[in-house]
Amino acid sequence: ATPTAVMVGTGVGASQGVLIKGGQAVENSHKVNCVVFDKTGTLTAGKPTVVTTNLLTIMSLVEFYQLVAATEVNSEHPLAKAMVEHAKNHAQMQTWPEACDFESFTGHGVKATINGKRVLIGNKGLMQKFDHQIPSVAIDFLDAAQCLGHTAVLVAVDGHVMGVIAISDPVKPEASRVVSILKRMGLKTLMVTGDSQLTANVVAKEVGIDFVMAEAKPEEKAQKIRELQREGLTVVMVGDGINDSPALAVADVGMAIGAGSDIAIEVANIVLMRSNLEDVVTAIDLSTKSFNRIR
Ligand code: ADP
Ligand code: MG
Repeated sequence: ATPTAVMVGTGVGASQGVLIKGGQAVENSHKVNCVVFDKTGTLTAGKPTVVTTNLLTIMSLVEFYQLVAATEVNSEHPLAKAMVEHAKNHAQMQTWPEACDFESFTGHGVKATINGKRVLIGNKGLMQKFDHQIPSVAIDFLDAAQCLGHTAVLVAVDGHVMGVIAISDPVKPEASRVVSILKRMGLKTLMVTGDSQLTANVVAKEVGIDFVMAEAKPEEKAQKIRELQREGLTVVMVGDGINDSPALAVADVGMAIGAGSDIAIEVANIVLMRSNLEDVVTAIDLSTKSFNRIR
């Protein structure tokens, strides 16, 4: 999707797939000294797949994924798509029951009623919100998955946690190279994510980012940017999701991943059309050069 506002980019950048939407971005970019990255879909490829399913009951995998697919098919979240795909490909499922009372909890997960069964799928916070006990084996599975940098999701049926699904979303091949270039340029690098602390730490370590804010809601991501600005930093925010748009809007320079959501693209100052993180460096370079030329 390419909103019309994007089309007023500068010529040189546009030919390289870096759309700069106006003078303010150019003016701010030359003094940037901090880059904040979203995790999912920005540092990672954003095409998650299910890698392990741990069942805590005698329920069959097919029965389990019937409930999971019937619930998650109603969600737009990339994690939901991964679970539905897994149900189709590995549990050999084409159809599943109709969901009633589907509800989605931003940053937490989803709930629905399937054939009279109450299904709840999401993180620890979601289970706590509904007063579900989390058995220690479930915590063990959760920790094991998160230690590998995977996102782990709990599945509860009628108030009891029945399984843990581990989902992997590998980091983009260029991510650690780009982070090391930015650090060499003297920029501070951070990661903000809605995912768990443990998963976030593992991914941050993998790409070489030293500062991590996890379990962050959209407004908290924006709050973090304001905090950095109060410390005197000039901040680039790189993100792809609807949940990144408040942070993209308050940053000195908002950079949206081209493959990201329309809302992120709309509020950003710069759009990286190739969705390649190397273009974060290109965009900063280009803006600095055109700023020097204007001056
Ligand atoms: P991210 O920044 O990783 O996109 P979100 O704020 O979208 O984070 O989600 C945070 C967490 O909420 C996820 O890591 C997951 O545990 C849970 N979650 C969100 N949506 C769903 C869903 N549709 N099904 C299961 N869990 C979900
Ligand atoms: Mg994202």
